[in-house]
Amino acid sequence: MSEINALDPSQYMIKDEPFYRPVSDEIELFESGYASRMPIMLKGPTGCGKSRFVEYMAHKLGKPLITVACNEDMTASDLVGRYLIDINGTKWQDGPLTVAARIGAICYLDEVVEARQDTTVVIHPLTDHRRVLPLDKKGELVEAHPDFQLVISYNPGYQSMMKDLKQSTKQRFGGFKFDYPEEAVEADIVAKEAGIDQATAEKLVQIAQRSRNLKGHGLDEGISTRLLVYAAQLINKGVDPKKACTMALITPLTDDDDILDTLLTTVDTFF
Ligand code: ADP
Repeated sequence: MSEINALDPSQYMIKDEPFYRPVSDEIELFESGYASRMPIMLKGPTGCGKSRFVEYMAHKLGKPLITVACNEDMTASDLVGRYLIDINGTKWQDGPLTVAARIGAICYLDEVVEARQDTTVVIHPLTDHRRVLPLDKKGELVEAHPDFQLVISYNPGYQSMMKDLKQSTKQRFGGFKFDYPEEAVEADIVAKEAGIDQATAEKLVQIAQRSRNLKGHGLDEGISTRLLVYAAQLINKGVDPKKACTMALITPLTDDDDILDTLLTTVDTFF
């Protein structure tokens, strides 16, 4: 059995062009940023198209993409690598950031503020003129491949004093502010992505907009584009629109019965 070689870039290539509907001139701007390998941060609420945008750009630029979903248990070793023990002794295993730096991939750290602060510090030498990644435990200094680029995302809505990026980290990135697209664009995305008609997609978007008005008034976040696509996919499969909305848009959003009722009433006015 042949072992998968972690350093083979072909496995990280995005084969088919992802559907991405631009909202503004973000594609051109990202390309200009990539030309100087500028580290990029994508800010915005969950499910508004940040990851899809990175996938689209990796495909367009013809570069491998390595995505890491960051979480609060994540340590620097999870990104950089560690020694593993097997029957033959100890063996170093590169983490995803190291692999990306070696092969010249775009490394996308999704929800980077979730990770512990020591994790964000390891990206510093990679995101200035040095473009190096020190593997302290291994005693190796990896020089980033000329094609390597770091992209991070974070949701300023979840931000607290404890969980914010330090200025010394923030000021290493060019930034894009993402939000849910304007009504017509979002309806277009939902219709195309799930294969439903425009009129139904528009109703779904209007329900989402009502929920977004409740942000800060009982809801932490409104209904995301991602959830709208879920609802639309159920409708496409023949599920009754009210049931589809309840399942995909309303139930996952909150545990507060009053808000649930309000949102269900909104669904009733559209379907
Ligand atoms: P996040 O901002 O959390 O990374 P995603 O990129 O995963 O969100 O977006 C969630 C879903 O919303 C995508 O899978 C896609 O279906 C849809 N989507 C959002 N924005 C766009 C867009 N501009 N073009 C195409 N699809 C989009």
